[in-house]
Formats: sequence, C-alpha cells, structure tokens
Amino acid sequence: MSRTPRILVVDDVAANRLAVRTTLKGIDAELCEADNGFDAVSMCLAEEFALILLDVQMPDMDGFEVCEQLRSNPQTSEIPIIFLTAAYRADEDKIHGYLSGATDYLAKPINDRILRSKVRVFLKLYRQQQALIEANAALSREIDRRKQVEEKLERQARTDPLTGILNRRAFFDLGTAELNRLRRYGGNVCMAVLDIDHFKHVNDTYGHQVGDEVLKLLATTLTSRLRTSDIFARIGGEEFAILLLETSLAEAVSKVEELLDVMRDTGFVQESEVIHISFSAGVSALSADDDSIDQAFSRADRLLYCAKANGRSCVCA
Ligand code: GH3
Ligand code: MG
Ligand code: MG
Repeated sequence: MSRTPRILVVDDVAANRLAVRTTLKGIDAELCEADNGFDAVSMCLAEEFALILLDVQMPDMDGFEVCEQLRSNPQTSEIPIIFLTAAYRADEDKIHGYLSGATDYLAKPINDRILRSKVRVFLKLYRQQQALIEANAALSREIDRRKQVEEKLERQARTDPLTGILNRRAFFDLGTAELNRLRRYGGNVCMAVLDIDHFKHVNDTYGHQVGDEVLKLLATTLTSRLRTSDIFARIGGEEFAILLLETSLAEAVSKVEELLDVMRDTGFVQESEVIHISFSAGVSALSADDDSIDQAFSRADRLLYCAKANGRSCVCA
C-alpha cells in the first residue's frame, strides 16, 4: 500500500505556515514545512510530495524561482504547485506564476474552505495516480512472471528430462531449419544416428536406474566432445542423433568414430565393476534434394542397422 501523501508548505512567515496547518487540520496528509526556497527545493529532491503550497514573496529565492527550479528537474517537474499570493498583487502574480509553472493559485488572506477543497482535489488526484502506478507495476511483474513460465515450458518442451540434452521434437525442428538453410546456401551438413549396443543387457544386469546413469554419461561425454554448433539430441530410448554442421561426410564419419572410441574407453563404474558400453552408428550427408529432415534421418537410421548387422560397435556411412 502507498504511504500517507505529504504536502509541503513553503512560507518565510511562521504565522502563515501555522495558518495553513490550522486550516488543513484533519486532512489525510502529512504536512511538512520549509521557511525558504532553497530548503523547499532540496526537500522535494529528497522525498516525494503530493502537493506544494508555495508562497510567492520570500527573500533570497522567491516562489517563482522555486517553481522554475522544480519544473526544470524531471524528478520534481510533475508535483502540483499552488501559489499563495498577496491579494493586491494577485493578477500580476497569477500570470507570472502560471508562466513559471504553477498549477493553481490562491490569494491571501486564504479562504479556509477554498484551500481545503483545493487540497482535497489534489490529494484525490495524487491517490488515483499512485493507484495507477501500483497497478502498472503489478501488471509488469505479472507479465515478467508469465514470460518466465512460458520460457521454462518452452525449454522443457525441447529438452529430454533424463539427460538434459535436446529431445526428438527439438531435433527435428532444428534439423528442418538446417535443411532449409542447406537448400538455400549450400554447404555440408551430416546426420549421425547412434544406438547403444546391448543396452538391454545393462538394464537386465544392473537395473534400470544404472541404465539411466549410463544414458546420462553418454550424453555428457558426447556433449563435451561436440562443437557447440552441433545439434545433439536423444531421439528416444537408447537412440541419439547428431547434426554435424559444416562437416563433410568423411569428417563426420571420423568424428563419430572418435566418439565411439571415447565411449568404449569411458568406463562406467558400478560398485566393483566397470561397465564398458559402445554404440553403433549410421552417418549420412544431408542433401538439398531431401524432401524433409525425416528422409535424411531414415537414411542414417538404415545405415545404423547395417552397423548393427556388421557386428555392432562400428560406424556405417
Ligand atoms: P542393440 O544392440 O540391438 O541395440 O540391443 P539393445 O539391447 O540395445 O536394444 P533393445 O532395443 O533390445 O533394448 C533397448 C533397451 O533400452 C530396452 C529398453 O528397456 C531400454 N531403455 C529404453 N529407454 C530407457 C531409459 O530411459 N532408461 C533405461 N534404463 N533403459 C531404457
Ligand atoms: Mg540398442
Ligand atoms: Mg534400440
């Protein structure tokens, strides 16, 4: 909730300030006083005021100058200012006051009812403005929160929950974009499809949980060996796929063979045993003539089954 609004009464004569205070007794605002223009300006810079009641005639810095200074600073330029002017100078001061940025004016001696009703109007405006500011801030916070939720959902929708790498959907989306780029600009992009060998044996021997750890190990090991521009995903079960950008078929085959060597050498320690795993892989170059990324995927998948048929733990291209 917003705090009680503050009104600044600026007058060099203590009796005038007291008169205003007496008139505004009981109004729902905190009254603050300044007996000179310099203090008035510095108080407005230090704290927020809903309204300023400003005497025109003051020694050193008069009301017009205070008003001009406040209007020239964006921090204080919007504070409503009611000038309190001597009746005999009212017309002259009124024009000068409006020119220097006054919002309203009142001639002295001040009519109590007029002052009270003017102050009430300005306080009401101030409260409405504060409520609007708070509502806007709450709206911005809500928008930020929803954006974060959306981003999180979007991330989740593209991520494989077990390994944290991309999932099948993200892979095919990004793959489609890469195929479109290849059609337009040419270049070399290769698709590798990998499947862990005898993974069922790992599950059957050590349990499903150990199987999960092996899948995570493969994901982190391969991620650390790939370029950040490569697109690496878990397609499902113990099957993974990589799109190697700016890579010829020969380079892609040797890269996947290197990954296979690393995987064979990376022992997964399970109690007193070390589990060694390998994978089989099919590698194929994307072609501008491919109808879709699925077509390139199917080609690499068929080559993967050749690798399985050739005794596993090898790469077919
Ligand atoms: P191959 O060399 O022919 O690929 O033999 P394989 O045993 O790896 O292949 P198969 O398709 O017979 O078995 C795959 C196993 O992978 C069976 C399935 O339960 C297991 N699997 C699939 N997804 C997960 C998973 O998220 N976690 C674990 N632990 N196992 C999984
Ligand atoms: Mg397998
Ligand atoms: Mg399988």
